[in-house]
Amino acid sequence: MSDIESSTDHIGLFGMQIDRVDLTQATDRLLDWARSPQPSACRYVVTPNVDHAVLLTHHEGLRASYAGASMVLADGAPIVAAAKLLGRALPGRVAGSDLVPRLFQAAGEQDQPIRVFLLGAAPGVGDRAATNIRQQFPGVEIVGTHCPPLGFEHDANANQAILDAVAAATPDVVVVGLGAPKQELWVHQHAEQLEAKVALCAGATIDFLAGEKRRSPVWMQSMGLEWLHRLATEPRRLAGRYFRDAVQFPPLVWREWRGNPSF
Ligand code: UDP
Repeated sequence: MSDIESSTDHIGLFGMQIDRVDLTQATDRLLDWARSPQPSACRYVVTPNVDHAVLLTHHEGLRASYAGASMVLADGAPIVAAAKLLGRALPGRVAGSDLVPRLFQAAGEQDQPIRVFLLGAAPGVGDRAATNIRQQFPGVEIVGTHCPPLGFEHDANANQAILDAVAAATPDVVVVGLGAPKQELWVHQHAEQLEAKVALCAGATIDFLAGEKRRSPVWMQSMGLEWLHRLATEPRRLAGRYFRDAVQFPPLVWREWRGNPSF
């Protein structure tokens, strides 16, 4: 175990074991993994938000994925706020969409580039993200992109095509942007066949890197309002989910407060 791995610990919250690390520590650990020999199963990183906490109460597959993750990073501001309220404070939010560019930046501060594969997002978006990354981050070599077809997760050939594309590209890091919980389930199911050192479940990060979607202004991020920006930009897709989460999350916090988590 490296110093980076052993110098941190976790908090238990909503059925997750969240790593007590900040963005810099998470980045250092990722770079360490990206530079290490490939493990027998690809490590993967999940970045929980409120929706994950709600899903985890009844989604066995997502629980298994979380249990197998090598790093669990608090992406959602309400997760960080709840942790503080419950006396299990975290150093801060570590959003997947901050982590990926920070990793790319940090790779450029070292001699050897990291090899990165972009998996997911709509047709053409991965390639546009690749062009931008090549321009902005000299420490990153984009070795492949792949946009799986709709419904690929139920199609053995489409799954194999992803694994083959990744294996041919020999990346250190796979950025997985397939939406939640699809991306978490997929990396968990395929970790042993995925020929990469680490996979990051990063939601819409490939869209952000491509300029396809815009992140909220920094002032909204610092006030914990990134969710509001996402809701305003994708109301039809997100309104139902956010409503359900707004109803179901406070009771989860209450049960944790009473020392009686939901599962
Ligand atoms: N996506 C994909 N394949 C799918 C479903 C989603 O590539 O089968 C991509 C979609 O194009 C977008 C991302 O997954 O780039 C969605 O990420 P986001 O974090 O917005 O989704 P959420 O987790 O909020 O549902």
